[in-house]
Amino acid sequence: MSADEFFEVIDPRFRGLFNGSARVHQLYTGCQWAEGPAWFGGGRYLVWSDIPANRLMRFDETDGSVSVFRDPSGNSNGNTVDRQGRLITCEHGGRRVSRTEHDGRVITLADRFEGKRLNSPNDVVVKSDGSIWFTDPSYGIDTDYEGNKAQSEIGRCNVYRIDPQSGAITAVITDMERPNGLAFSPDESLLYVADTGATHKAGHPAEMRVFKVDGDRVSGGRQFAVCANGLFDGFRIDEDGRIWTSAADGVHCIAPNGTLLGRVKVPEGVANCCFGGSKYNVLYICATTSLYAVRLMISGLRTH
Ligand code: MG
Repeated sequence: MSADEFFEVIDPRFRGLFNGSARVHQLYTGCQWAEGPAWFGGGRYLVWSDIPANRLMRFDETDGSVSVFRDPSGNSNGNTVDRQGRLITCEHGGRRVSRTEHDGRVITLADRFEGKRLNSPNDVVVKSDGSIWFTDPSYGIDTDYEGNKAQSEIGRCNVYRIDPQSGAITAVITDMERPNGLAFSPDESLLYVADTGATHKAGHPAEMRVFKVDGDRVSGGRQFAVCANGLFDGFRIDEDGRIWTSAADGVHCIAPNGTLLGRVKVPEGVANCCFGGSKYNVLYICATTSLYAVRLMISGLRTH
């Protein structure tokens, strides 16, 4: 068995990103739809969502055990950790972005825009200024499968920003079909956003777009990459600005210039991933029914 069974090198630069002995390990299986991994360094654990099962799960790095973190979870999807180490969660069922306080209380950060209920927040990222940026496609209200079937009140699928001081919610991107995963470049001058609009609009490109960021505003939005297999859903950025993104056949690694460098092969369709571990060089992968992990030769971008 060689590392080639777990990695596909498309560009020679990819070979330096993993060790020859590296393996993709399955840490847990038994989910219905694994999504939204988020790493808590202080506690050495990972929280992730099992959306249809309506629960949040927890993997403990110290002993490899897995337990239920929260049930019900409001059909939680994307998760992240803010600059104060608090869990930020997108909830399909709750149609909100919530925050789990240090004392365990779960509070609402956003559930409406201009008086109308959000669709079903999908994925979320926190900028260094404390602002929270999230996507709001319709997957959690399309059917009862991963939320509660309902009409969209807003009638659009936008990307929103929550102001860290006032808590005000503004729509920062309004021209996407189904905005999904999102992340900032290391210097936060760029915002990458995946569009899974092909699920609803025939022929829509399986694309990731890149926007210029100026404070609380974005501009541009050119096509950055098109997924070579399936759709880009959730993704994370490494310390050198590479994008590690979900796809149907594993995790695709894309250079900052848009070149597909290689692929981490995963035996199930991948929905999302995040970096973790004490050196932040373990890529945790949520893939359909399972949680996987692989240790890399590079580290993720630390955002908290
Ligand atoms: Mg997603």
